[in-house]
Amino acid sequence: MNDTPAEKRPPAPADASRLPSPAGARAAPAFADLHLHTLFSDGTFSPEEMAGHGARCGLMAMSLTDHDTVEGCPRMALACRNLGIEFIPGAELTAELDGAELHILGYYLDMENPKLQSSLKQFQAVRQNRIHEMVARLNRVHIPLRAETVFAIANCHSPGRPHVGRALVQEGFCESLDEAFDRFLKKNRPAYVPKFKISALDAIGLVHHAGGLASMAHPGLNRSDDVIPAMAASGLDGLECFHSKHTAAMTEYYLDIAARHHLLVTGGSDCHGYSKGKPLIGGCKLPAIYYERLKERRRAGIGNSELKIVK
Ligand code: AMP
Ligand code: ZN
Ligand code: FE
Ligand code: FE
Repeated sequence: MNDTPAEKRPPAPADASRLPSPAGARAAPAFADLHLHTLFSDGTFSPEEMAGHGARCGLMAMSLTDHDTVEGCPRMALACRNLGIEFIPGAELTAELDGAELHILGYYLDMENPKLQSSLKQFQAVRQNRIHEMVARLNRVHIPLRAETVFAIANCHSPGRPHVGRALVQEGFCESLDEAFDRFLKKNRPAYVPKFKISALDAIGLVHHAGGLASMAHPGLNRSDDVIPAMAASGLDGLECFHSKHTAAMTEYYLDIAARHHLLVTGGSDCHGYSKGKPLIGGCKLPAIYYERLKERRRAGIGNSELKIVK
């Protein structure tokens, strides 16, 4: 599905690392973006397009973290390799703790891990059933949207509210995605359907089981700072301190929390392509030092090696 023809792929940029650096010149700072969504969930870029944008932004490393799926990772890994960008296979899992929704980012996932695969399939089935339920609720308030329209727009196994929103705009029921969320899709609006969520601790366990490292996504959006110590004690590996919606002060605040709980620092733009207006890639970048620490932890296998037994 959604195969990007070769001619649509962006050309490889000049390899700056091969150019001689002028004497005394300081190396340009290096950055990673470890939070990205493609059309395998609710983003609008193909993996190849996303990798191309990463190259143009000068990224040294990228991770694809689509919602509840790793399907885009093999294509993005190949595209990144062709562009000289390091790639981490990842996913963003929707989880909950004490009734609050939390997003857990899994990095360095073994995509072939059977338990990961069956869990993702289950989460995707929940998402697909939820689309039917959201459409039924819209129909009840006299919006004659059809589930087929949403599935055609989503064209992926991991559909979500943004796809329902896009369908509402396409069919002329709303002017914009924001209006669709404000009128129908947000919590306490007529088409809002809560989704079954894995517990945050089980999400961390699942990531570890698949050989990965688990980071809590955008803590500044969830406002669940009080759960961070318990999550750290339960095996959470990292905290997403750098995020498009974090102010500089929030980033500093979460860097301090990460240091206190010995958590790795992760970060990324959470770019969804044009899904939410302007593409966010390049706007929020993780300094290389934190990426190197993540890589180092992965190399050492700390925190997950003993859990990676069952395949
Ligand atoms: P879901 O996982 O189906 O509950 O959908 C969550 C997705 O909807 C996330 O990617 C959110 O960033 C996105 N989202 C939430 N509010 C809005 C909004 N007002 N406009 C566009 N996307 C939104
Ligand atoms: Zn999303
Ligand atoms: Fe998220
Ligand atoms: Fe995200």
